[in-house]
Amino acid sequence: MKPKLLIWIILLWYCHIIYAQPPSIPTTDRIRLAEAFTLAEQIGNRLWPNWSKAPFAVLLVTPDYEFLVRHPKPSANFVRLGYDTLLKSDVYYRKRTFPLTFLATFPLDNTMISTVVVGQAENTWVKSSTPWVVTLLHEHFHQLQDAQSNAFAEVNALNLSHGDQTGMWMLNYAFPYDRKEVQDQFALMSRLLADAINSPKDERAKKVREYLAARRNFQSLLSPDDYKYFSFQFWKEGIARYTEYQIARMATGKYQPSRDFVALKDYRSFADVAKATYDGIFKQLVNQKLAESKREVVYSFGAAEGLLLDVTNPGWKKRYFVDKFDLGKFYAFYTKLELYPSAHCCRFVRLLNLCEFEETFESDDLDPPYTKQSIANEQLLRLGEETNEHTSLDHIRFADGRSDFTRRIDLERLRNRQRFIVSAISEHFFELTGSIEASQR
Ligand SMILES: [Zn+2]
Repeated sequence: MKPKLLIWIILLWYCHIIYAQPPSIPTTDRIRLAEAFTLAEQIGNRLWPNWSKAPFAVLLVTPDYEFLVRHPKPSANFVRLGYDTLLKSDVYYRKRTFPLTFLATFPLDNTMISTVVVGQAENTWVKSSTPWVVTLLHEHFHQLQDAQSNAFAEVNALNLSHGDQTGMWMLNYAFPYDRKEVQDQFALMSRLLADAINSPKDERAKKVREYLAARRNFQSLLSPDDYKYFSFQFWKEGIARYTEYQIARMATGKYQPSRDFVALKDYRSFADVAKATYDGIFKQLVNQKLAESKREVVYSFGAAEGLLLDVTNPGWKKRYFVDKFDLGKFYAFYTKLELYPSAHCCRFVRLLNLCEFEETFESDDLDPPYTKQSIANEQLLRLGEETNEHTSLDHIRFADGRSDFTRRIDLERLRNRQRFIVSAISEHFFELTGSIEASQR
């Protein structure tokens, strides 16, 4: 064989090898993805019940290819690479279609499976490994929101899209960001929210009421649709941001990051990222201006509302997917305080303090053991709901001295350990409503 021909054959063969070599997920990204999946598996359900039932489908966007993992129904334009034991998933790939900086969650390729579409950490705004992993959990929380039955239909029923079919209305809804009185009230409300979260226990009820009064004033400045839009954003994005913080915080406990993850060049501890996230929420809450940040304000504001609800109504997460799209609903009991004459308010406040949540369940060892405080709080929430069902104070006062509320509680045959708290609350409640009646005769 002529030497020239031989060189050509070798060259062609070499090209063939290069061309035929399938792509693979870069090592660093694979370690980061695995960390996010482990974190979700080990901590997820302790933060949000049944979170693991939501698919954690991810499309990783790299310069040449996109890799799809944990997706139950990849569309036909993906090629299967095989099973990855570290990611515990089949891996698929295709030529890149999304920008390298992409970071969002939505049903991919009309499959109706909510998929996290994310660039490599360095190409996204989060930049490094640990914040990228925590952000992936933010996106995974959106998958839990989307996995609720009728999720998309219920969001549509808000009637805020005004004909837009792309979902872009969620970003560019015409909220009155430019109205001066709305800006000022948002700033005041944000400051009072920060005060309420940071207030000492004995001042909390007062601070929460001040905050709620400002919240109502803010609502009164908006049209019903504008309020619905911001409430939806606090509910959706604010609580996703709250979830980032809580996941990072919970990962500082017994959770052990993998050795490969800790060995990454840009590794930061979860404790470090939890602190940075918490500080970031408050810094934005106090400093951000509605006129400048516009929709961006919803992240820190909604996250802060989650933090306040943790201390005022620790059962709120159980209602999150029941009373949707407005965190304001979870303040029902505090709101009821406003119905009562001020002389009696202090007694309600005392009752609340009595039942106030104490940090009795340690972050890492959930399911939380029920405590006197948390049971009491649950009952208070229920009481709040009961009173909420009745529109007037008259109905709460009950002409015959017996209420629907007591009857229902009696019938419920609460477990022994709950009974004494319920009866204590009922006593206080009827003592209070009795004295209101007396004072108004
Ligand atoms: Zn989000």
